Amino acid sequence: MSRYTIAALPGDGIGPEVTAEAVRVLHAAAEVHGFSIETVEYAVGAAGVAEAGDSLPPRTAAAVRDADAVLLGAVGHPSLAAAEGRRRPEAGLLALRRLLCAYANLRPVVLHPALGHASPLRPDRLAGVDLLIVRELLGGLYYGEPRSLTADTAVNTMRYSVPEIERVARVAFDAARGRRGAVTSVDKANVLEVSQLWRETVTRVGQDYADVSLEHLYVDYAAMRLVANPAAIDVLLTENLFGDILSDEAAVLTGSLGLLPSASIGDGPGLFEPVHGSAPDIAGRGIANPLGAIASAAMLLRHGLGEVEAADRVEQAVADVLAAGARTPDIARPDEPTLGTRQIGELVARAVTS
Ligand code: NAD
Repeated sequence: MSRYTIAALPGDGIGPEVTAEAVRVLHAAAEVHGFSIETVEYAVGAAGVAEAGDSLPPRTAAAVRDADAVLLGAVGHPSLAAAEGRRRPEAGLLALRRLLCAYANLRPVVLHPALGHASPLRPDRLAGVDLLIVRELLGGLYYGEPRSLTADTAVNTMRYSVPEIERVARVAFDAARGRRGAVTSVDKANVLEVSQLWRETVTRVGQDYADVSLEHLYVDYAAMRLVANPAAIDVLLTENLFGDILSDEAAVLTGSLGLLPSASIGDGPGLFEPVHGSAPDIAGRGIANPLGAIASAAMLLRHGLGEVEAADRVEQAVADVLAAGARTPDIARPDEPTLGTRQIGELVARAVTS
């Protein structure tokens, strides 16, 4: 029997509430599919600052490197919004991604048929939306040197090397092979030299994937395509800053941040987390939507552990629970009854084991 160790980092705000439900569902999937999962909790974010004065405490950093995969809730606390250095909760998350060498961020955007009302787009634009954003996560403007800020001038540097582009491009092409076989690469090659290298490199990597089609879009046009015809996109490959913006734009297509999962994968154990933050406005009330965290657990099973059948089962259970009408307040119509975080988690776990 396969045995896996999962480092669970619930974090702050609603993080612990939604992570508890994701862990519940992971154990249900393990029971059905005949493997065993041990989950061990560690502090991150404001919880790490409370424990050790560090948003990524040494104990957590040591544990995640030895885990088979890492499941994270969310970080961020209003009391630390102005904190500096490693006392900033969000700094812990950036350090964690670097520590795990998680260079590719995968964000699937799927529209559940029962939730069309929650989207700001017209129903005819939403039919068939099923896309995957592959965002480069460890390069570009966020990390490039030199960087500086003085009273009258500020500098950031967008920098990419060929190996950095190649490795994330391969993730996108490999993913497209298991989907509809189409990669849309995003750049600004009419203006930026970095984008010219991005375009050349992605094109060259694409030559190894004769069965996958490749198109290049300028980022401004890609932003329009995402709302004008999102169903036409299969895999969207993008560098770090463009990906940050486009993935939040894509998130609103589904109507709730609470539904969306993500995986950050690379050379170490994968990091799996819902795309939402710690939602201090609803923390502690038991009403947060756990489905983004549960869908992240499904990605952990698929990409982190290779337990593909268990992942399929969890994703089907989420779809079934939504189809049956179970809703947290964020995705309910005004006249629909609502359930709490724990009740939704229990329903999904039951759907997995039944
Ligand atoms: P947020 O995602 O926490 O919340 C935005 C809105 O969405 C809020 O109204 C919230 O109630 C709602 N929401 C989010 N997740 C939900 C869920 N699962 N169910 C129901 N409603 C949900 O974003 P924010 O308010 O901009 O940030 C709050 C804190 O989270 C900040 O400290 C920010 O830095 C941090 N943050 C962390 C991450 C992360 O951990 N990856 C991501 C984004 C923001």
